[in-house]
Formats: sequence, structure tokens, C-alpha cells
Amino acid sequence: MNTDPDFHCEWDTVIIGGGASGMLAALQLSQLRPNSSVLIVERNPKLGKKLLMTGNGRCNLSNIGASVDYYHGSDPTFVCEPLRKYAVDDTREFFEQLGLPTMSDEFGRVYPNTQNAGSVLDCLRYNLSDYGVSVMLSTLISSVEYSKGRFILRTHNGEVIRSKSVLVATGGACAPHTGSDGNGYDILSSFGHMCLNVMPGIVQIKTRRDWVKQLSGIRLSANIALLFEDKCVREEFGEVLFTDYGVSGPASLQLSSHVSRILHENDIEHQKALSLHIDFFSDMSISDIRNELMARRAKYSHRAVDTLLVGLVQNRLATALIRSATDISFSEPISNLSDSDVVAISNRLKDSILDVEGTMGMKEAQVTIGGALTSEFDPTTMMSIYVPGLFAAGEVLDIDGDCGGFNLQWAFSSGRLAADGINIFLSGIYNE
Ligand SMILES: Cc1cc2nc3c(=O)[nH]c(=O)nc-3n(C[C@H](O)[C@H](O)[C@H](O)COP(=O)(O)OP(=O)(O)OC[C@H]3O[C@@H](n4cnc5c(N)ncnc54)[C@H](O)[C@@H]3O)c2cc1C
Repeated sequence: MNTDPDFHCEWDTVIIGGGASGMLAALQLSQLRPNSSVLIVERNPKLGKKLLMTGNGRCNLSNIGASVDYYHGSDPTFVCEPLRKYAVDDTREFFEQLGLPTMSDEFGRVYPNTQNAGSVLDCLRYNLSDYGVSVMLSTLISSVEYSKGRFILRTHNGEVIRSKSVLVATGGACAPHTGSDGNGYDILSSFGHMCLNVMPGIVQIKTRRDWVKQLSGIRLSANIALLFEDKCVREEFGEVLFTDYGVSGPASLQLSSHVSRILHENDIEHQKALSLHIDFFSDMSISDIRNELMARRAKYSHRAVDTLLVGLVQNRLATALIRSATDISFSEPISNLSDSDVVAISNRLKDSILDVEGTMGMKEAQVTIGGALTSEFDPTTMMSIYVPGLFAAGEVLDIDGDCGGFNLQWAFSSGRLAADGINIFLSGIYNE
């Protein structure tokens, strides 16, 4: 890694952003064109700040099931070519060659064998250095112009950098403390690109019911479904974490991008028709649960009502569910529960409904929904259809993936494809 970028007065390629897509693009490009001058400009004092936070510090870097089905945006098919050319196996092989073997879990999530995001970043940094990629840290690119066949990039402290090609790999607008604060949209907009409204994706869901607050901190496995106007939008089985504002955890995070989209597309009246339905016993039918509770009523008739679900669910959840289903006092014996009380409690266990209020914001989100319109980029090269030599990759584009390694896979595939596109573009310049 060359830390003295001043030795070039003009670069072949400047990559704006030293995140997942920018670093992969730089490595791929330096392998394709060993004599090419490549500069990564990163606003943070270090590369890959967000990468270190991924997968709870373990870096869920891909998913063996990655296909167009797991991606969203105004045209999700835009991912097909990048994912075809640089599929999951290629990503794993690429990292293997960088010295980072990977493994996958039962959900198809791919992690480094070390289970440590720091080692992913280390492998990338050392290889960037080995391949002679230059890096300018603590430098924000504040504007980019195109003049006489060259890009003129201005930094926050007034420096000017010239380049034959530019890759915008600035990320989206979520988790702005990591450096991706949406300024990449301004850079692309200045070249006439349209950037769609951005929203938080893979983010905690806020709910209305007060009884959820009593559950704050409880973590369990459940089936959770998102319904809009009584139709199921999507359901997931997995870990749900109750919080004082609503729900988090992998299963609900997976539904959250749909919440953002539905809230964005509907007026306040319709937004009220959005709800979460939690099934705490997805492996039992409602009649089996009723029978179980009827049997408990007979067997434990002398005990207090709030002990009815002891051993079935955590105590705090049990009391919250019973309280939300019946008016009976907890000091009364279980034998005083009526049949309709038992039915109501069974229904809560199978289908607890939480009205959705919204989501947490961009600060908490793991991915950005929306961004630069993909129809204005060539999916075989990632080059702008308006400005030859201008490329974009990663989250700055209007593509967001599900939770589970799909977003990093997108950043890697699109970054590497952009490097191929830049290679073709530069070859054209040098052959002129
Ligand atoms: C907490 C968290 C956990 C996540 N976990 C996972 C996970 O396990 N698996 C997964 O697949 N995805 C995960 N993601 C999402 C994934 O990290 C992103 O989708 C991915 O990093 C996007 O890559 P990128 O290169 O497009 O942008 P980023 O990784 O955001 O990199 C953009 C870089 O550009 C820099 N930059 C921005 N503007 C400028 C400028 N003008 N000048 C200079 N530098 C600039 C930023 O500082 C940043 O370093 C997670 C996200 C978060 C926030």
C-alpha cells in the first residue's frame, strides 16, 4: 500500500471509498492491470470501518444461496450479471487466494474460518499493499467534475486529484458514523444520475403495544409474520429479541425492509394496517396448545393463574401473555380460568399481534434501501450510461439484500465487476 499518493499527478483510477466494494475493486483491478495506478481515497483514518462491524464482528461475508431472489430495489434483476460473473464460490475462492479460508453454517451464511471481521480486513489491507494499491486516508472527496477527458476530484481540504476513471464506492446512507453518509449520491447526481429516496433496511421494528415493553430483553425462537391489510407479506422463523421499542433479532430484521417500503408507499391511514404476528409455538397446532392448557388447568388447578405457562415459555412472557388475554386476577387459582380464557391464552401463544409503528432510523440500519438508479448503469461493466469512465458499485446503488451475507456479496460482486469494466475502459484509452 503506497501511502504517498503525490507521486502520481494523474491516476488511472481513483476509487472513492475504502469499504467492502472499493477494496475488492482495487484488488481485482491491480491484478488485472499490474502497471495501472490505482488510488483509494477514504475519509476515515482507516479502511473498512463498517466491515469490522459486520456479522456482530464475525463478518458474514456471503451466503451460499445468493441469487436475485434475495435482492430488492427498483430493478433487482440488475444483480444477475454481477452475481453470475462473481458468484459466491468466486468470492470464497478470491478470499482463499488472499489467505482467508471461509466456512458456511446451516443457514448458508459464509464466515471467515477465524469468525473474526478483523482478519478479513487484515487480509484485504496486506494484499492491497502487496499489489501496490495506493491509499489516501482521512480524505473526503467533496466533488468530482469531468473536463477534457479527465475527472477532477476535489478533497475537503482543497486538494485536486486527476484521474482517467472514477469508481464511486461510497456506500449508502445507513450507519453514517462509519463514513457512508449518503454523500455518494451527491457525487453521482452531479453527473445527472437519479438517486431514489433512501430508507433504512435491516433495522429494528417499532411496535405500538405496551405489553411488549414488559418483555424487553427476552430472546427466543419464534415464527414471525408481517401482514399488510390482512395479507402475509413475508414470514420468518428464527430468533426474535424484544426491546423497549419493539422487536429486533434476525427474524424481525429480515422483515424490516418490507416495513420501510410499505410505510413509504402508503399514507398514514393505510400504514395502520401493518402488523406483526408472532407464533411462539410454530411446531404445535392451535388445538394441541388448547388441549395442553386444558390439561394444565385440570392438573394444576390449585396453583395461581400466573403459573399456567410455567415451563412452556419464560415467566415474563407468560405473565404478559396471560395479562393481555384475560382480566382474571393473578391471585386466583388456575381452576377459575374459563374455557374462553384458555382459548384466548392459546390464541396469544399462537398469534400475538403487534401493530407496527415504524422502524428505527438510518443510524441503526444495516443497509440502505434506495440509492442511485440502476437503469443508468451498465450491469455488465457497472459504468454510467451518461459518463464514460464513471463507475459505481456496492450500496450506493439502488440494491439492498436480505440479512445473511447478501449485502457484502453484492458489494464484492459489483466491486469486482466494476474493476473489469474499468479495465476494459482503460484498455480503450490506452489503445486509442
Ligand atoms: C452493523 C452492520 C452490520 C452489517 N453486517 C453485515 C453482514 O454481516 N453481512 C452483510 O452482507 N452485510 C452486512 N452489513 C452491510 C454491509 O456492511 C454493507 O452493505 C457493505 O459494507 C456495503 O459496502 P460498500 O463498499 O458499498 O460501502 P461501505 O462498506 O459503507 O464503504 C463505503 C466507504 O466509503 C467511504 N466514503 C464515503 N464517502 C466518501 C467520500 N466522499 N470520500 C472518501 N471516502 C468516502 C466511507 O467512509 C466508507 O468507508 C452490515 C452493516 C452494518 C452497518
